[in-house]
Amino acid sequence: PRQFFVGGNFKMNGTISTIKDIISHLNSAQCSADTEVVISPPSLYLLLAREHLRSGIEVAAQNVFDKPNGAFTGEISVAQLKDSNITWAILGHSERRVILQESDEFVAKKTQAALDGGIGVVLCCGETLEQREANKTMDVVLAQLSAVAKAGVKDWSKIVVAYEPVWAIGTGKVASNEQAQEVHKAIREWMGKELGAETAEKTRIIYGGSVSEKNCRELAGEGDIDGFLVGGASLKPAFVDIINAKA
Ligand code: 13P
Repeated sequence: PRQFFVGGNFKMNGTISTIKDIISHLNSAQCSADTEVVISPPSLYLLLAREHLRSGIEVAAQNVFDKPNGAFTGEISVAQLKDSNITWAILGHSERRVILQESDEFVAKKTQAALDGGIGVVLCCGETLEQREANKTMDVVLAQLSAVAKAGVKDWSKIVVAYEPVWAIGTGKVASNEQAQEVHKAIREWMGKELGAETAEKTRIIYGGSVSEKNCRELAGEGDIDGFLVGGASLKPAFVDIINAKA
């Protein structure tokens, strides 16, 4: 069985004081030992988070650059994350794809760099409302994932795929269980064909987009939903209920 995975993507939210509060709440909370938990504060607070967070909860960067060092103003390398005990990176989030115009190929390059450097990747994919309405959902999602396979990534054991329909992010409009399960299942089938049965069986595919303490249990009941990537609710005490959705 695949270990349940719950990530908290703080996005560009928080201050030293609020992030410390979130962490002390998490440190003392009853979190299911069966759930792998990773939180992702803004880069400025990664070290603070790592310093205060109890062991057993990992920290993720919200982005990483694909070059090891050098004249890349504003960027952070995989080696620097490793050096700081930051063991994951969220890559290909729709906000970066849309607002920062990151291409499928660039996301794929960064994924490869992160894995080469020994960092796990929460690899985000997902369609816009316009694409869903045009029946392009699977074309878009599989193009995003294929780019990573095409970039030469063979070992997916350190990748968690996050399906995040853009229309569900921050809107309160969560995908229905059936909508999410359908895409997760299709992703797993694609993996089986393109990456092999073992990768398909073992890779966690998590859902993101308006996940809350209210809807998480039902979603977690679907066979191909192996956890969540949580935005807004990860800043609140209710995040613990989502961590325990399967408990
Ligand atoms: P919300 O949970 O705020 O909808 O955000 C989801 C998300 O984008 C997580 O990466």
